Amino acid sequence: MKCQGAVLRGVGRDWEVEEITLDPPREGEVLVKMAVAGLCHSDDHFTTGDMVPTPDMVALMEATGAAVPEYFPMLGGHEGAGVVEEVGPGVRSVQPGDHVALSFIAACGVCRWCVSGMTYLCDNGAMMLAKEMVTDGTTRRHVGDEDLTAMAQLGTFAEYAVLAEESVIKIDESIPLDAASLVSCGVTTGWGSGTVGVGTQPGDTVVVVGTGGVGINAVQGARAAGAAAVIAVDPVDFKRDSAKFFGATDTSPSIEEVFPLVQELTNGVMADRVVLTPSVLPPEMVLPALMLTRKGGTCLITGVPKFEVNMVPLLLVDLLQSCKTLKGLIYGGLNPRASMPMLLSMYRNGHLKLDELVTRRYRLDQINEATRDMREGRNIRGIFEFA
Ligand SMILES: [Zn+2]
Ligand SMILES: [Zn+2]
Repeated sequence: MKCQGAVLRGVGRDWEVEEITLDPPREGEVLVKMAVAGLCHSDDHFTTGDMVPTPDMVALMEATGAAVPEYFPMLGGHEGAGVVEEVGPGVRSVQPGDHVALSFIAACGVCRWCVSGMTYLCDNGAMMLAKEMVTDGTTRRHVGDEDLTAMAQLGTFAEYAVLAEESVIKIDESIPLDAASLVSCGVTTGWGSGTVGVGTQPGDTVVVVGTGGVGINAVQGARAAGAAAVIAVDPVDFKRDSAKFFGATDTSPSIEEVFPLVQELTNGVMADRVVLTPSVLPPEMVLPALMLTRKGGTCLITGVPKFEVNMVPLLLVDLLQSCKTLKGLIYGGLNPRASMPMLLSMYRNGHLKLDELVTRRYRLDQINEATRDMREGRNIRGIFEFA
């Protein structure tokens, strides 16, 4: 079938909305008519090149035998929700008409990591940026005579998506699809980071650095996990104001300025948990974040650094002697198939704010404008609505 999709042809280029071709779903695959897709900073990491290896790194990866994905042309989008239109043979978890949220990891459910409750580490993650389907290793998405990489095996920036069954999670039909789209990446990642990811306990002091579409949900999560103080750090006034609405007890415009505040709030003990969710993680943020973290505390890296970062200033003796944990995590350490329905039921019961996360709604052909709004800090979340 043919439909409109947003395609990126290289670093530094604009998104181009054009006709793409999707093959019918084969065994274990599902065709979804997209209703809503969210624009996440990780989409922009490919337009800026932050998540694309430099030529030097490609050479290094090739020399070590690592697979180097062919990133472009890329069909963007890894957050979204829609309605199942058609299923291929052997699909059991959904049928046509079902409402689904999409998972940016097509977790297989049977590998060592999945069965250990760490589906975010599923071996299928190695194919997140492959042109081939995780199902049978052949391609389904094309533009002209080229095969498309679909971001995270999804490619939600299109009217339709052909997906592995593992990428779709059935949700209750009473849930609005824009709310379902939000839990597809940003909310789950942020909420998980602020709760189980960083290990928040009742009474903790938690600092969240960067309160955009992911960090704002770390604020909500930390508060729900019982944190006594949740301090939101963001240079943008509007984001600090939003953070207060979503549960922050205090705010600060920068990591430097938050020090005296955390010292005062904790009688010098410092923060139990620090969550780093900036748009792009600068390596020089790690040391001050660890200095904000109390002894025995945890500092969590959720925001994406530039691909080429391989030197990070650290005070190793403090990391050792103060028994601090510096941790990296994707999907907030949650299991999408369990967590998305859980978060959506919290939303339905009024315990999780989702509608208020949407700053602006766009048509897909406004994608470059939406990207500019995100870069300039005007949005908590911008979403695309499909007719
Ligand atoms: Zn994302
Ligand atoms: Zn797995």
